[in-house]
Amino acid sequence: MSYRTEEVTYVQPAQPAASAQAAQQKRSTAEYRALDAAHHIHPFSDMGSLNRSGSRVIVKAQGVYLWDSDDNKIIDGMAGLWCVNVGYGRKELADAAYRQMQELPFYNTFFKTTHPPVIELSALLAELAPEPFNHFFYCNSGSEGNDTVLRIVHQYWATQGKHSKKFVISRKNGYHGSTIAGGTLGGMGYMHEQMPSKVENIVHIDQPYFFGEAEGNLTPEEFALARAQQLEAKILEIGADNVAAFIGEPFQGAGGVIFPASTYWPEIQRICRKYDILLVADEVIGGFGRTGEWFAHQHFGFEPDLITLAKGLTSGYVPMGAVGLHDRVAKAIIENGDFNHGLTYSGHPVAAAVAVANLKLLRDDKIVERVKTDTGPYFQKKLRDTFANHPIIGEISGAGLVAGLQLAEDPKARKRFANGGEVGTICRDFCFNGNLIMRATGDRMLLSPPLVINKLEIDEIVAKAKYAIDATAQQLGIS
Ligand SMILES: *Cc1c(COP(=O)(O)O)cnc(C)c1O
Repeated sequence: MSYRTEEVTYVQPAQPAASAQAAQQKRSTAEYRALDAAHHIHPFSDMGSLNRSGSRVIVKAQGVYLWDSDDNKIIDGMAGLWCVNVGYGRKELADAAYRQMQELPFYNTFFKTTHPPVIELSALLAELAPEPFNHFFYCNSGSEGNDTVLRIVHQYWATQGKHSKKFVISRKNGYHGSTIAGGTLGGMGYMHEQMPSKVENIVHIDQPYFFGEAEGNLTPEEFALARAQQLEAKILEIGADNVAAFIGEPFQGAGGVIFPASTYWPEIQRICRKYDILLVADEVIGGFGRTGEWFAHQHFGFEPDLITLAKGLTSGYVPMGAVGLHDRVAKAIIENGDFNHGLTYSGHPVAAAVAVANLKLLRDDKIVERVKTDTGPYFQKKLRDTFANHPIIGEISGAGLVAGLQLAEDPKARKRFANGGEVGTICRDFCFNGNLIMRATGDRMLLSPPLVINKLEIDEIVAKAKYAIDATAQQLGIS
């Protein structure tokens, strides 16, 4: 499979400083694959099948490009796993980690101690986040962030004397991580099936997925409103005195980049306020510039009580997660004695130092601003122009530098493929062979490139996506 690039001149990215070392491969691809198959269990994978086909071995990266062990240059339309917001190979982040490791590689924050990196990070987050967010609790991942959210929500209502408020309402096809709590909060049935037990008092309502689930002649706005109103019905069913919180991703990421219509979040917020229920925005993907705003809830125009952060917080250079607390929640936690929760690496100094360097880059290089005013609108328009009236594209969702392309058998009639998952896999394989990373979630193709991407690189991603989607249509005999 080859991909021709005659219409575009690509900028050759600078080679990383340490590339001589990286290029000096210690093992052949076959050796890597054999050892990987022998000893490594991958997340969310069918290992039998993966071991037969072999993994792609990624050996280095720069900007928006990856290189595999056969020296193929691949454009990364997914920013790793939605996280490498500042792109690969940023020396500022590597330097911050190196310096911090030499100065103070670790100290805990449990026993009346703190350290400069976590102090700087907290102050910087308070500056970057919307006004009422001035306090942050740290962990190592988005999943742990959502575990922490449950602890904070529970403690909050305990401090208010409302001990019966225990239920948390979430959504089907939402994603909140893969610890037991994250997995329970999420609405992925295939994950629930393999869980030995679930966290109690978590219930789900339907997602605002217009293309796949709207019936009749509802407009997207009417449909989104109806889906939001399921929250009210669920609260009334359980009893408002028993409901502690609602959690949702401002737009669903892993669920397929599902963007609710503008009516959705204001209605969710209205309902949460009416019944005195905390509103949690899982900003693990949406946070740090993805939609062109610093946080995705700002894009949708609502005010959560808690925000879960991870991924773009460090651009994935080292693991870190956090929870941001609205002043009124923070006050309750701060003024009511011990909060019995923590992780050895809460506020890890190296992670915090990298996060600070990362956030300063996003701010001072005006990366978030550029997504909002320049590259984001360009990317969205390019996708819409390219796939308008495409025979198998039913919907393009997204804002800023995130998009979902709905594969459909009959786009106009909103008819999905009966074997949508297989069609997604076919398309994903064409992308893979064309050296584009574009993720398939069922019958939706997802893009979420590094936020530093330039217009030529956007052109390359969209051209390669077009090639893969055209090839998919051709293989299905649709034109
Ligand atoms: C990735 C993700 C998580 C989980 O984060 P991990 O770091 O993988 O634990 C939680 N919520 C959302 C919205 C995510 O996309």
